[in-house]
Amino acid sequence: EVSEIETDVLIVGAGPCGLFATFELGMLGMRCDVVDVLDRPGGQCAELYPEKPIYDIPALPDCSGEQLIDNLLLQARPFEPRFHFGLMVEALNRMDDGRWRVRTNDGQCFIAGAVVIAAGSGCFSPRKLPAAGAEMHEGEGLLYAVRERERLRGKHLVVVGGGDSALDWALNLHDIAERLTLVHRRDRFRAAPDTVNKVRALIDTGAMDFRAGAVAELVDDSGQLSGVRLQGGDQVVCDHVLAFFGLSARLGPLTSFGLDMHGDHIRVDTERFATSLDGVYAIGDVCWYPGKLRLILSGFHEAALMAHDVKRRLHPDIRHVFEHSTTAMKEHLGPR
Ligand code: FAD
Repeated sequence: EVSEIETDVLIVGAGPCGLFATFELGMLGMRCDVVDVLDRPGGQCAELYPEKPIYDIPALPDCSGEQLIDNLLLQARPFEPRFHFGLMVEALNRMDDGRWRVRTNDGQCFIAGAVVIAAGSGCFSPRKLPAAGAEMHEGEGLLYAVRERERLRGKHLVVVGGGDSALDWALNLHDIAERLTLVHRRDRFRAAPDTVNKVRALIDTGAMDFRAGAVAELVDDSGQLSGVRLQGGDQVVCDHVLAFFGLSARLGPLTSFGLDMHGDHIRVDTERFATSLDGVYAIGDVCWYPGKLRLILSGFHEAALMAHDVKRRLHPDIRHVFEHSTTAMKEHLGPR
């Protein structure tokens, strides 16, 4: 059933810039709803490098991607942003009263006074296994992510890939699987040295199998996955294949919104971070202006300027008094 949620500001993307935007907008008294196609907040930081250190966040000499996201969520918490995960924003339509109707892939609609696109490099999706029969088994025998580890207990698993995700999952699943075979095109892995050492030790002791080669075909037995055939003809018996070839990002639906673009990026002015559509803003990696640096700290600055303009837009009748955070936060945090 189609439902509509009214809000002050709809933010597309829960990466670091979308999250900081909920804080900046919240501090200026605006309510935010945030939509992300992923199932959790954090964008690239959470998806691509949760454990990698970041050294260039002002006044945070060293933090991991995950810590940064946890802190951004904590900072925004007083303003109770509402998150809607697992939804892709697909369409943007201007209403007669100047507000925007934003539609997602499952039909959920948002009506917002302003839209902030913080979509980074777009929607992430897993790179697909280039093997015959892959499409037919996707979601059942063939998985690109592990949502429920327990579902794989006692199964015959084939894990395909040689990077961190493949090896982490091989380590994580081998003790609950009946048998686990790691398949990678060559006997060299591109993962953290400690992870590689652990995997090699399990292979050496026979606790895990390894096959060098590429998966050519998923073998089918009356609709059920029964194994994989490698290039060259060898077969490995299994009931589940887990493929980890990394993620690819695509801007997707955003390119059809009628926004003025600069290649794959949305052109904005540097005073308000407004796009060519009235009431639609863009911040973070997705926006472009001369000199743009794709860094988290740039997105934070962009969020602050955007928020002040959104406030002027949504509340044109009130006089705007600039306040520092100490004053603006008093009613939310209480005196210190
Ligand atoms: P993202 O983090 O890309 O988040 C965008 C979100 O929008 C995603 O979650 C995506 O799923 C969602 N989305 C997109 N389209 C839609 C849609 N249509 N509907 C719903 N949701 C959508 N920067 C630094 O400053 N310091 C560093 O040390 C650093 N190290 C890095 C290391 C690596 C390996 C990488 C890949 C990047 C690094 N960066 C670093 C860059 C930094 O991660 C980005 O600048 C930052 O993530 C941009 O944040 P964002 O919020 O704009 O976008």
